[in-house]
Amino acid sequence: MKAFLLTAALISTIVVAQCQPAPIGQTQVTEWQYGKNGAVSITYDDGSYHQFTKALPIMERLKLPATFFVITGGFPGSKYHGTFVGRPVKTIIAESASIPTNSVNFLERCSAAGYLGYKGTITYVTKAASLYDEKETTAAYQLMDELYKKVRNGDFQPGYQPCDEVLQEEGSTWDDMRRYAAEGYEIASHSITHASMPGLDSANITYELEKSKEEIRNQMGEQYTFSTEVPYGYENERVMQIAYKIYPALRNRMPEPWLKEIDRPSKQTPGNSDKDYIQWQREANTRSPLPLMKSWVDTTTGRKDTWLVIVIHGVDGLGYEALPSTLLDEYFQYIKNDDDKLWVATFGDVTKYMRERESATVQNNEDNGKITVRLTHTLDNMYNLPLTLKTYLPKNWKATLVKQGKHIQQLTAMQDSKGSYVLYQAYPNEGVVTLSGN
Ligand SMILES: [Zn+2]
Repeated sequence: MKAFLLTAALISTIVVAQCQPAPIGQTQVTEWQYGKNGAVSITYDDGSYHQFTKALPIMERLKLPATFFVITGGFPGSKYHGTFVGRPVKTIIAESASIPTNSVNFLERCSAAGYLGYKGTITYVTKAASLYDEKETTAAYQLMDELYKKVRNGDFQPGYQPCDEVLQEEGSTWDDMRRYAAEGYEIASHSITHASMPGLDSANITYELEKSKEEIRNQMGEQYTFSTEVPYGYENERVMQIAYKIYPALRNRMPEPWLKEIDRPSKQTPGNSDKDYIQWQREANTRSPLPLMKSWVDTTTGRKDTWLVIVIHGVDGLGYEALPSTLLDEYFQYIKNDDDKLWVATFGDVTKYMRERESATVQNNEDNGKITVRLTHTLDNMYNLPLTLKTYLPKNWKATLVKQGKHIQQLTAMQDSKGSYVLYQAYPNEGVVTLSGN
């Protein structure tokens, strides 16, 4: 009986605590920008021409942002193209006649395979890299032996043949990319040649990622060197370790203590989580019917913690798993209709928001009818996205003036169970925000 009374008392304390008004000036960073329920990033891989000529105009009409992971060596005027970093390929070919492929020479042979001077060798790299990533090393070695034997026998046409994905970019230019970026689209790296990186050695992985970054920096500017997607969605540990030294954000993997990741092939749904955020990647392809694609949006809208990352490849017959632009039009309108609940933003912006929020310190003070708020974080100056703050106000404030340096916002108070509040944008590490009411 005593135990029961104690429990009841505890419950009533909790209930009272929940209904208590928030102290005036109490401030928090909202989970997502503008206090929305969830985030959506629409991402495109491979930079195929139709992504820009068929899908992008729909997004422009609906004012939806997106991220395009482009193969940087595929546009005219690029400085960096595919190459093999290592010993002369003639030496490697000659050696293959007497030494079978093994754990010591596999990565060198696979890295060189696309650049032996013959067409049709790149498909061997793609297959062997995939086998090697799945730890089917014997099969991967056999495939290299088969390829090098054919090369020695003269079974291939001389020349160089890139991946199909590179050829599908034809038609776009760096000028086009700069124009889309000026509209707010994120142009990000998808390597130089759409390389199969688990099959490459460190020097060649580094070349593909580092020089692609340099190309983007030269063509687009530093801010577009933030995000990348290593081709084929690989999460290979060795590749990820190299990639994370070069790019701050990878769509492949984002190891953060506060983030639960649900990858593209996973059948998992967001469900219960003890993390602050869930990154839920879904691939929109010919096997994902539109009602299913819409249900991802509904699930995200109905939660508070989920970032839906949609992955799109081909459009209107061009590219891997191409979707009709009419279907994309309907889908994007569906997303746009939930604008009041969803923050639709680029992959880079959502990453920045979460990281800034997780490392932010908010200090607030209320004195003589004026509230001051300081928002700081310890990240580098690439993390300059404004965060949305929620501050509780005195009851009698009808309008609130929010000032931070040159940024001025005039806002009307809103109500929740804890009192009257405003939502506003604040720039971290840019000085005090003052709120005054009348
Ligand atoms: Zn790709």
